[in-house]
Amino acid sequence: MNDRRETLKAELVRVFQKLYFQGTINMYEGNLSVRDGEVILMTPSQQNKETMTPEMIVEMDPEGNLLSDNGFRASSEYKMHLEIYRLRPDIGAVVHDHSAFASAFALAGQPLRCEMAELYMFYGGEIPCCRYGTPGSDEVFAEFEQYFLQEKKNVVLLANHGLTAAGKDLEEAFSRAEAVEKLAKITLLARLLGKENSLPSGEAEKLMKR
Ligand SMILES: [Zn+2]
Repeated sequence: MNDRRETLKAELVRVFQKLYFQGTINMYEGNLSVRDGEVILMTPSQQNKETMTPEMIVEMDPEGNLLSDNGFRASSEYKMHLEIYRLRPDIGAVVHDHSAFASAFALAGQPLRCEMAELYMFYGGEIPCCRYGTPGSDEVFAEFEQYFLQEKKNVVLLANHGLTAAGKDLEEAFSRAEAVEKLAKITLLARLLGKENSLPSGEAEKLMKR
């Protein structure tokens, strides 16, 4: 087994446990993957995150065929990850979670408008909300081509479900998921205050240039 792959597996476990211990996902929720050339490494289905080890990470090809039998199944949502890798060669990692504030917007079927200056630079005007699909089915990612490929989004909400973020590596995908959760929290708090101001006119264009 090559060193790079071992490192990536260890990183998947570390980030998965971080999401769990910080309360972003429950024991059996969420799934992460990393692309290593023609091999996709994915967190296993229905396993205790506290006791997870790198040996439990599943290896598959881009079509979803298991490349070795380590006794674990890939997450049932693996197809959603594979679709993003298929659409975007620049993507090297995918994070899917059910973080509370982003999921609240997903439950309401509302895209997230980004009017916070520094977040705007990374997320543009809107984080879209994909229409509902049964978890694990192809319907979940029916709109990924539009959002991830045509509109070059890196994070989407999944109606009545959660969020999915992509990045060049796991750190970037994680940071995007984390930032969108923060944005959802801020937006909800602003709504409690009863007011959401837009960025000043011309500012969005200025931020996008940076
Ligand atoms: Zn899910």
